Amino acid sequence: MSKPQSQNEMNAGRLESPRLGEPFLLTPGPLTTSYAVKEAMLRDWGSWDGEFRAMTVELREGLLALTGDTEGVLDCVPMQGSGSFAVEAMIGSFVPKSGKVLVLANGAYGKRAAETVKYLERGLSFVDKGDYMPPRGDEVAAILATDPDITHVLAIHCETSSGILNPVKEISDAVEAAGRKLLVDSMSAFGAVDLDINEVRYEAMVSSANKCIEGVPGFGFIIACKDSLEAAKGNSHSLSLDVHAQWAHMNKTGQWRFTPPTHVVAAFLVALRAHKEEGGVAARGARYTRNRDVVVAGMRDLGFETLLKDRWLSPIIVTFFCPADERFEFTRFYELMKDKGFIIYPGKLTVVDSFRIGCIGQMDEHVMRNVVRAAKEALVEMGVADASPPEIALIERAKLAA
Ligand SMILES: *Cc1c(COP(=O)(O)O)cnc(C)c1O
Repeated sequence: MSKPQSQNEMNAGRLESPRLGEPFLLTPGPLTTSYAVKEAMLRDWGSWDGEFRAMTVELREGLLALTGDTEGVLDCVPMQGSGSFAVEAMIGSFVPKSGKVLVLANGAYGKRAAETVKYLERGLSFVDKGDYMPPRGDEVAAILATDPDITHVLAIHCETSSGILNPVKEISDAVEAAGRKLLVDSMSAFGAVDLDINEVRYEAMVSSANKCIEGVPGFGFIIACKDSLEAAKGNSHSLSLDVHAQWAHMNKTGQWRFTPPTHVVAAFLVALRAHKEEGGVAARGARYTRNRDVVVAGMRDLGFETLLKDRWLSPIIVTFFCPADERFEFTRFYELMKDKGFIIYPGKLTVVDSFRIGCIGQMDEHVMRNVVRAAKEALVEMGVADASPPEIALIERAKLAA
């Protein structure tokens, strides 16, 4: 068995070493952060203090700079909690109590959004495309044409449960043509996959600190049209998740309404500056794409197959089918990979067994080559000579458009 490799031994490229000897998190957030990001948390800030208020301004402006908004139509509202809190805040604040949301689901996060709509007692129209089939623009147009009560459409940008990159541009076109409003859960994509407001005409979108910007968990953020933020007054079912109230208070006082995650914000600013230095969304996306290409090519060489055809693969996370060989056991594979320095992610498909490998975080193609090497060794240790999936997996995949 090879000796466990720590992050710093392997991150031989340009990336700053996280230095702590922990395994790499090949998961879609929390993810592997840089040492500088972690180090930024070694200080306490007063939430009312001018210095922290300036940090909040930098955070909001830094995120708005990634949206393509040149006319100042958008604003950014950070919200305490994990990403799901921000999704809930967005739905509750922008969809009026009499509103109805068409949720486009092809995985766990779409289903969770639909459940949230139900909790909030807004009207729901639910399209469930199964484990990974993408919702298409023409389907959305057809549904909107038959249901005039739908006020909003909610789309998942990268559905992290399969790793599919959903066609948000064609969905946006259909929503705009029908005169409805678009909400986007871009949690796992924002910062690495373009979401330009001039292309994808959303009313609001959400993401969080611990995904492609590479911060630590602790808050999410809503980016929305100022008009809509204004109009959202009084919609929210929740005191603490009221986006309008957080926005208005922040604009007036420079402060978050309730205790902000000060250390998380400090870490996030370091991550945001590193994002800019790396070259912004395009460069971050390019590094993740190389990570994905290296891991996909390497795993295919070992006989593994991806759930998705290349066209639908995101640079965020990739689902692989488990090998058909009976000697392959996911829990054993997981432990072997962990021993070698990599935490992988179980799959979420209902039809066939699978696992996922994340491409985001402080990792580069050198790391991904070592991931493939570790998988190869793990197969040998398990006595699996061929990693090809069962026939049924390939039959499933054939249903997907090329
Ligand atoms: C991570 C993620 C969320 C939020 O999940 P939390 O566990 O609440 O942070 C929501 N949607 C998508 C697509 C995600 O990837």
